[in-house]
Amino acid sequence: MAKALDGRVAVITGGSRGLGRAMGLALAEEGSSLALVARDADKLEETAQACRSKGARVETFLCDVTDESSVERTRAGVIGAFGAAHILINNAGINIRKPIHEFTLDEWMRVTNTNLTSVFLMCRAFVPHMKGHGYGRIINMTSIMSHVSLPGRTAYSSTKTALLGLTRALSQELASDGITVVGISPGPFATEMNTPLMQNPETNAQFISKIPVGRWGRVEEIGALARFICSEDAGFITGTDILIDGGWCAQ
Ligand code: NDP
Repeated sequence: MAKALDGRVAVITGGSRGLGRAMGLALAEEGSSLALVARDADKLEETAQACRSKGARVETFLCDVTDESSVERTRAGVIGAFGAAHILINNAGINIRKPIHEFTLDEWMRVTNTNLTSVFLMCRAFVPHMKGHGYGRIINMTSIMSHVSLPGRTAYSSTKTALLGLTRALSQELASDGITVVGISPGPFATEMNTPLMQNPETNAQFISKIPVGRWGRVEEIGALARFICSEDAGFITGTDILIDGGWCAQ
């Protein structure tokens, strides 16, 4: 039976684990081929196998998305393997939580390069290959921290707010090509990024008390949203983000 994303090729940065893995599994179920991008070969391969079990063609690409030449090698590898790219999910991200006066410049730049500059590098590399199909989707993993914030999040919030600005501007450049640019802004999801918060019973309870629905997000819920954004039905959604936060930002 035909599936909604048959014939599509999706490039997912940070595709080895967490939310990237969940989006890979969801798009594989819809028939998309996948190019999974990250630095840890074992985790990438494990996720690739799980996505292949859904029937998808999956290739993995070892890449540091903060490195211009590494991104260029990935672009050449993906286009060599698949011949095209239709969906780009800029999901790789890190968080360093500490007061501003404790940040080193190196830490600040690591967060900025991973969460923001990487998106510039990936979009610059892949947008030319995404044009001309009459369809395209760029999903940027923004955050509730694109809208609100917390102490210790100066670097993270700065990058995620800027990424929402990039999302808006790029949507204007690509709208006439049929390529939408959409942010997904998650609230707290139970992934490795949040392990330090979840392992501390006090911060875990504090977080849950701030989420009106009373639980951490489930990664499958991000997969389902990405699947919808990639569908034809979502072609009129662009230049904005979608909050998926259990009501966090509505308070
Ligand atoms: P994880 O820490 O679980 O996964 C991060 C992924 O990014 C890994 O696959 C990692 O792979 C990859 N990555 C990190 N740095 C690089 C790099 N330099 N080059 C290539 N790949 C890299 O994070 P989540 O799944 O939780 O988060 C995914 C995205 O969603 C992030 O952008 C995050 O900011 C955002 N988000 C997450 C929230 C949450 O609650 N989990 C809330 C709001 C936003 P590897 O280390 O192998 O390279």
